[in-house]
Amino acid sequence: MAKKFKGPAIGIDLGTTYSCVAVWQSQNNRAEIIHNEQGNRITPSFVAFTDDQRLIGDAAKIQAAYNPTNTVFDAKRLIGRKFSDSVVRNDIKLWPFKVVAGTDDKPEIIVKYKGGEKCFCAEEISSMVLTKMREIAEKFLESPVKNAVVTVPAYFNDSQRKATKDAGAIAGLNVMRIINEPTAAALAYGLQKRADHVGKRNVFIFDLGGGTFDVSLLTLNNDSFDVKATAGDTHLGGEDFDNRMVSHLVKEFKRKNKVDISGNPKALRRLRTACERAKRTLSFDTEAIIDIDSIYKGIDFHLLFTRAKFEQLNIDLFKKCLETVKSCFSDDKMDKSRVDDVVLVGGSSRIPKVQQLLQEFFEGKDLYSSINPDEAVAYGAAVQAALLSEDAKNVPNLVLQDVTPLSLGTELVGDVMSVVIPRNTSIPVKKTKSYVTAYDYQYSVPINVYEGERKIASQNNRLGLFNLPVRCAPHGLPLQVCFTIDADGILNVSAEEKSSGYKKDITITNANGRLSCEEIERMIKQAVDFKSEDMKHVEKVRAVNALDNYLYCMKIAMEDKSVASMLTLVDILMINSAMIKAKELIDGKEKNDTFVFEDCPRELKSTFESALKKF
Ligand code: AMP
Repeated sequence: MAKKFKGPAIGIDLGTTYSCVAVWQSQNNRAEIIHNEQGNRITPSFVAFTDDQRLIGDAAKIQAAYNPTNTVFDAKRLIGRKFSDSVVRNDIKLWPFKVVAGTDDKPEIIVKYKGGEKCFCAEEISSMVLTKMREIAEKFLESPVKNAVVTVPAYFNDSQRKATKDAGAIAGLNVMRIINEPTAAALAYGLQKRADHVGKRNVFIFDLGGGTFDVSLLTLNNDSFDVKATAGDTHLGGEDFDNRMVSHLVKEFKRKNKVDISGNPKALRRLRTACERAKRTLSFDTEAIIDIDSIYKGIDFHLLFTRAKFEQLNIDLFKKCLETVKSCFSDDKMDKSRVDDVVLVGGSSRIPKVQQLLQEFFEGKDLYSSINPDEAVAYGAAVQAALLSEDAKNVPNLVLQDVTPLSLGTELVGDVMSVVIPRNTSIPVKKTKSYVTAYDYQYSVPINVYEGERKIASQNNRLGLFNLPVRCAPHGLPLQVCFTIDADGILNVSAEEKSSGYKKDITITNANGRLSCEEIERMIKQAVDFKSEDMKHVEKVRAVNALDNYLYCMKIAMEDKSVASMLTLVDILMINSAMIKAKELIDGKEKNDTFVFEDCPRELKSTFESALKKF
């Protein structure tokens, strides 16, 4: 029985482009998607830094075109990856913000904030988005929230999962469980079907989001959710389709106008936003207009983009999605004809060509689109959060059995991968495998841990290495290696030499660029500092607005002849000079970092108030 936690618990879909938060509502027997302060049910996973503040979500995205180098997005594409990773190297070319190699080859994002240079790792940026989602929930629930279930793509590897958990810790959240996005979506779907009293069903979840692509095959039987197989691509989604459009239009612009905008972050940001909008239009219309005023050096960009062109630019990526779909059925766990429902999840699953290819693969089967593709993952995460919360009531007693997406094993002599836990094994799981020493009189045996499907160990992803001390003896000394995967899909490895009792647990954690406890502590502190700075800024803006409003009232009053006639010359001079001072404060000419209307411009306030009394 899983451990339960006290206090409210939320589900967060931490997406590449958008995030979504939901909470179980005991009184309604359902999860509720929570809207943000703008009234939107999804929030951009954007963080921006300016000369005087930090912005997260819609506010950050809105100003992206004017502040491209300090507006960070796509942190999910960086999380748990190395700087030298070819995927990271390629992404960097398209991002307007700067990314450099930090300690242990960890990518670091460099931005300008309050006049100085600041550097953040992907976990920190993600933690800021998580904090925002938490605050949205706290406002809705009118209570502090600590517990959360956070979703990750099913195909996220061990270090990407751990890094996501670290991001939660930096945000001050107790991440009760990390669950796979398609599995969360299956929970949302399953609850709907449960209400229809449908029995056993085989379900295929097709989850194509902004930056990642996942598919999962599940069997739902009343309250049990059994994941049979999963596959995916942690770097394929709507942003790649946008990139193709952007690259094409940059060339088009160059051809027509003989100017290259590829080096101009502001122009590129505006073009990207217009492309994303056009792409959405093309999901229900066959044409979309791209219209950007004065994109570069006063030149306008006006163009009609067709669905056919969009499909032509992306057809190889769409077909790549289908290859992944096929791979889910290659493990002989189930034939595609036995699938009852194909469920669409993720914003990009709305693309007609993608739907057409998928429908053809399933030989004309209708695609299930009754759940909202943008919200299903957060909905399912909230259900899982409720299952782990002591406080939630009326939660259906669902049992979820997930699988590990990648094979895990160790390296044998000759660079051979020895699989201990094959991919698509149900988790949590513990498996032990016996080995023997390869050489005479070894003092220690290196245990190299890898994940991946290649037979050559070094071509897989190395998770870490540790040395097991052994008794000095001829080769053939028996060893046991034990792999444990917990419910979050996170791996722990231990090894033991039986005859001497030498034992060691793997310390994969830092070897693969994971944050140390001290670093997390430091970042938690920094996150708290950021929050208080943000609050100070909000208070300052409020104070300036209040003063501005005051000033406006004074101006209107002074323009009124009947009012002016009641004032003495001294009154008028005093009010005028107070108004000039107030204006300077508002315009920022008068520097005052701790500007609070209530006490700072006291002399202004009393001048205004005594004048107002006379009116
Ligand atoms: P998600 O990660 O599920 O929030 O998906 C976000 C991605 O879906 C972004 O790349 C969006 O541009 C894309 N998207 C959202 N709506 C549509 C649509 N109607 N047609 C095509 N792509 C869409």
